[in-house]
Amino acid sequence: MKDIRWPRVLCGALGSALLLMTACAAPPAPQPATQQQVTTQPDTPAAPPAQEPAATSAPAPATARVVVLENFLADIAQNVAGDRLTVQALIPAGIDPHGYQPTPRDVAAVVDSDLLIVNGADLVPTLEDLLKSAGGARAVVEASAGLTSREAREGEEAVMSPEERAEALCAQAPDHAHAEAVEAAADVAAAPLLGEAHDHEEDVKEGGHEHAKEGDHDHEKEGEHQHMHSLERFEVILPAQGATFAGFVRLEVAETGDYLLALPQGQFAVTPAGQSEPVEVEETFDLDCAGLTRAAQMELQAGEYVLALSEWTQAEAFVVFGPAGAHHHHDHGDPHFWLDPTLVVTYVENIRDALSQADPAGAATYAANAEAYIALLKELDAWIAEEVAQIPPDQRKLVTNHESFGYFADRYGFQVIGTVVPNISPMAQPSAQQLARLADRVKEAGVKAIFLETGANPKLAEQLAQETGIRVVTELYSHSITDAGGPAPSYIDMMRYNTRAIVEALRP
Ligand SMILES: [Zn+2]
Repeated sequence: MKDIRWPRVLCGALGSALLLMTACAAPPAPQPATQQQVTTQPDTPAAPPAQEPAATSAPAPATARVVVLENFLADIAQNVAGDRLTVQALIPAGIDPHGYQPTPRDVAAVVDSDLLIVNGADLVPTLEDLLKSAGGARAVVEASAGLTSREAREGEEAVMSPEERAEALCAQAPDHAHAEAVEAAADVAAAPLLGEAHDHEEDVKEGGHEHAKEGDHDHEKEGEHQHMHSLERFEVILPAQGATFAGFVRLEVAETGDYLLALPQGQFAVTPAGQSEPVEVEETFDLDCAGLTRAAQMELQAGEYVLALSEWTQAEAFVVFGPAGAHHHHDHGDPHFWLDPTLVVTYVENIRDALSQADPAGAATYAANAEAYIALLKELDAWIAEEVAQIPPDQRKLVTNHESFGYFADRYGFQVIGTVVPNISPMAQPSAQQLARLADRVKEAGVKAIFLETGANPKLAEQLAQETGIRVVTELYSHSITDAGGPAPSYIDMMRYNTRAIVEALRP
């Protein structure tokens, strides 16, 4: 699994918003004299026309060929380009960028382009393939460059399939143990607390994933419950019991939720402290990673538990334990910045700079257009806030089919209660059991409606409506604008449409 963003895969440590693809590979192919080379310095002021290469062979500036991957982004870019350039959108209306597969025509369009603008943050997993197929030289700009991904908040966990859980667990399970092994006790009363000696601050980055920094989680200010915010690997020394090894440790669970316990071998039972009945395991699944062979998922209330390990063939053991859903599914953070219009201001600035690089003579036009569009974004932001004010704050609860409304939620005071499918494919179908679990969560939280984004399986909507008995609002336009005749032909229309749909469903 990749753990770095694609441009670095291709190019090494370039953090710049503007990447020249030829800079990464072996010596670039010689460029025809007529082709203007794009530089990698976005902050360099545009060269005055007099310094440009031979005026007779230089292309007219407005012929720079700009291709934009995502269609909502193409609309934003077109607003910045104005009449000076026509940008070409690659992903057709209604297609989810997560599942997008480039066509030969798309590859051809990229081959012919001088500049490719993408959302970035790994929204389109096939982008790397597209660039490889296209080859050649062009600037590739991530519109979201410079924005920091949000971390999933508590309770936003998705309802994942066992396979997805296993994959996530394998990706996250730290492959090194904490410094001190815990000696399990032969009897329950003496069981030591797992992770007690553990210093959380040293481990905010583990398993290749960036975790929330200190202070990002309000509850961390409470102090003592700082562990168990991610899957952690614990070294355990088990006393001999007959021919095998067995022992007890205690687990402290800071918050109610789904937890995963993964083991390399042996038997286990998790029992609330002071009780005799182990908690029911909701799901178990096989693993083949990080030395682990299986995992169990269970819902635990905040409090203390006793973990009994038995029938191990060796004294030195380890277990991986932690919250099941504390991690966002996107490997590189949450790419859905555009659902907060105030973050789109950064998109506009990056696009403005990229267009000015590709077409320096148009810089003033792009600057003016960007300014005008940013004013529209601010207007949009104010309008959304005003609309959302119709929903009492305690009813601003969102359940969507996919983890995409986090930035919107953060900006306008919503809580994301859950998601139906955790992953990139809108075709992913949660099991009946997973739907039932989501239904429970929805009922508990008193959510009034579930929102399905366009592209979601319609059967899911029916099933959910049946399971939950609550309203299912279909066709939120979160990842794609519509055709000109549709209800959301532009980015701003899309945001207005979604806001209206959400407000209408949730207001009293
Ligand atoms: Zn998405």
